[in-house]
Order: sequence, then C-alpha cells, then structure tokens
Amino acid sequence: MAGSGGVGRTALRTGRFACTIVRMFDTYLRLWDLVPDGGPILTASGGVLPVVWHMRPAMLKVATCDEERRGNALMTWWNGDGAARVWLHDSDAVLLERAQPAPTLAGLSAAGHDDDAIRIACAAVARLHAHRAPAPPAVVPLHDWFYALLSHDTDDDVLRRSAATAHRLLAVQSTDEVVLHGDIHHGNVLHFGDRGWLAIDPKGLRGDRAFDYANLPCWMVFDQGFIERYGFPITGGKPGVAPPQWVPSAATLAGLAERLAIPAYALEATVKRWNAQVAAGRDDDFHRGEAAHDQWWGDAALRGGVQASLGPIDRGPFYAVEIKSGALGTKGGPKTNVNANVLNVDGEPIGGLYAAGNVMSSPMGMTYGGAGGTIAPGMVFGYLAGRHAAGNPLFADEAAR
Ligand SMILES: Cc1cc2nc3c(=O)[nH]c(=O)nc-3n(C[C@H](O)[C@H](O)[C@H](O)COP(=O)(O)OP(=O)(O)OC[C@H]3O[C@@H](n4cnc5c(N)ncnc54)[C@H](O)[C@@H]3O)c2cc1C
Repeated sequence: MAGSGGVGRTALRTGRFACTIVRMFDTYLRLWDLVPDGGPILTASGGVLPVVWHMRPAMLKVATCDEERRGNALMTWWNGDGAARVWLHDSDAVLLERAQPAPTLAGLSAAGHDDDAIRIACAAVARLHAHRAPAPPAVVPLHDWFYALLSHDTDDDVLRRSAATAHRLLAVQSTDEVVLHGDIHHGNVLHFGDRGWLAIDPKGLRGDRAFDYANLPCWMVFDQGFIERYGFPITGGKPGVAPPQWVPSAATLAGLAERLAIPAYALEATVKRWNAQVAAGRDDDFHRGEAAHDQWWGDAALRGGVQASLGPIDRGPFYAVEIKSGALGTKGGPKTNVNANVLNVDGEPIGGLYAAGNVMSSPMGMTYGGAGGTIAPGMVFGYLAGRHAAGNPLFADEAAR
C-alpha cells in the first residue's frame, strides 16, 4: 500500500482513468474513515475497493458513469432487503457490507447443483421485486434500455435477431412491472453469512419482472388435443389417458398461469403467437420442424413436413411440465483399450482396472449419435471388461494395444 492508508497504485492499470479512480478512492478513505483491506478491482464504469469500516469488512464502490450511479442509488433504496446493505452513500459512491468468499453460486453450479443456484438467485430476485418503499430512485424503462438495439439497422445477423426478439417481447403489454435488478447472474448474488444470499450490482431498470428471471423456470405447455393424439409419455403414451395428478392443469390458460405463478397475460400472448405460427406453418422464433431430424421425430402421420413438429395449443384443459436441464451422457473420463482396461498416462493398461459407461472416456469421442449411443457402448464395454477380468478376453492383450 502507498503510504498513509492510500490505495496501492502498483496494482492499478496506468492511465488517466485509473488515476481518477485512485483519487476518488483516496477521497472516500479519508471522508468515511476507511482502511484499505485488499487490492482494487477496476472496471470501465468505476471501481471497487475492499476496506474496513469501524472493524467491519466492507466494499467501497465508486461510480464513474450514470449507469453505476443509478445502480448505487437502487442499492441504497433496497436498504438491505434482498440486496447487500448500504452503510454509507453519496451521489458517486456507496459503502457496502462485504460478502463472504464462499460459497458462491458459480461454485454450486460447477459442483453439479445449478438447480439450487438458480433457486437461490430467483429467491433473491423475488425479494427485490417485493420491496416496497417510498420514493424509488430514477430507473430506466426497458424500452429506453433497448433503444440503441431497436432503433438502428444493422447487417449483423445476431444483432438483427436480438432486435427482433426485443421488439416482440416489449410489444407484450406488461401488467406486472417492477423495479428490476437488470443484471442477475451467478456472480451478482453473493453469500453474506447470517444475512443469506443477496444481490449486488444492479443496472436500475423498470419493466416486466420476467426480465430478471430470463426464461427460468421454463415450462412445456400442452393441451387436451395433444393428450388425445399422443398421450402423456410418462404414463406410457396411451392416447386419451389423462396425465398424472402431479402435472399442473387448468381449464383455461389463465387458470394454468395462476397454478404456475406466472403472469396470465404473458402465457396467453405466448400461446397466441405460437398458434398463429402453427397456422402459418412456420416457427419464426425457434425454427421447429425445419430440420430433417424434427420432421422424422415429429408426428408420424405428418412425417417429412414442418407440420410434424407444429401443433396448436387451443383445447382445454391445458397442462404444463417444468423443463430442467440434465445430462444423459458424458464424454470425458479415463481412456481404455478395447478390453475396457483403463490406460495409464503412457497408454499402458492398468492391471485389474476397468471402465464402462459414463465413467469412461466415450468410445464415440465428442459425438452423440442418438438414442442408444450411451447404454449400448456401456453394455458392450461392460461385457468386454467382464470377459477380460475372467481371463477369457475377446481381444488378445497384444491386439488391444
Ligand atoms: C432422460 C434420459 C433418457 C435417456 N435415454 C437414453 C436412451 O434412449 N438410450 C441410451 O442409450 N441412453 C439413454 N440415456 C442415457 C443413459 O441412461 C445413461 O448414459 C446410462 O444409464 C449411464 O449408465 P452408467 O452405468 O454409466 O451410469 P449411471 O446409470 O449413472 O450409474 C452410475 C451409478 O453409480 C452410482 N454412484 C455414483 N456415485 C457413487 C458412489 N460414490 N458410490 C457408489 N455408487 C455411486 C449412482 O447412484 C448410479 O447408480 C438417457 C438418460 C436420461 C437421463
């Protein structure tokens, strides 16, 4: 650290911007009686410095642009309800309670518990949306936030598709507008010990609350027409047999939305758009039915055409099943030879050690050929391992090299 409690300049990027931030940090260190407690983190929109304030670990966050100032004002308004608590603030800076280094949502996700991470993030967002207090700070409506995207023609395909999606989403008249966080992701919901999981770094927007959740949770919605034609796969797929009780259902889409705790107007608008696309014979949003794979796996009676994958949702009762991501196979793991014998780093078989199934490096390499591409090799290599272990290998050790 540079002398007299100042910020260590060697850790900073050079240039005028870094100097400005360092000066701002120094100002607040003096003004708020803070002691630096780690290296600064600089971004294009400001900087953050770990500090200690009256024996308490804290973060000094200084804004250099309006977007960050808006976020700081919003953090102050939330007053620690679903967000990190702001202890001190002025127009450019906030002094925040400091999160614990672990656990983190990214860590949970990497350990295979992303469902839990998403649930935690959604719970934090729900608290933010429920916050009611007088005089909310100035926030930006979603239409204005997307102004640059919506108002400029571009040749870039990704930007054009993004603009089309934004147009469509913003065209739906929201009846569920709230002050939004605007940038919820695994790095912006942190653990604060006894205070639990809380949000940081909001953008300060206003709009439909679905914006903060993106598309999770996500539902597969189908109707009575689907059940009568195809049945429900988990109950054996017998046409006409109603889905089991645990599948949420309702006579109307609005009733289904209520059961799913999602806005009825949004579900109705989504289904209306879908039905219009079905009638037109093309899914402009996701291009379902266009791939040869879709046309083969869709309705067998309509095989070979787009309609094999497009059907209307227009006859109650309506049903929904929550869609979760999962893994059905893997491609990494120890390499084996053709007898399923695990190889060491030199490519030599390790006596008595075998691998088959998801635990082994896939014999398919990086590809997944389709249904059966995991169980079949699992069985084959299990069989080969058994034969080898019993001293009756299908392939001689020499040939297995
Ligand atoms: C919805 C779905 C549909 C699928 N459809 C198909 C399909 O149509 N055709 C196809 O070929 N494949 C399909 N698969 C993939 C296939 O089911 C799996 O790849 C295959 O079952 C993996 O077999 P495995 O024996 O390698 O692993 P697993 O079946 O996962 O067996 C691993 C076992 O080890 C146990 N275990 C884990 N850790 C420990 C521990 N520390 N101590 C003791 N036991 C432990 C687990 O409990 C589990 O019983 C599908 C998968 C899913 C999820």
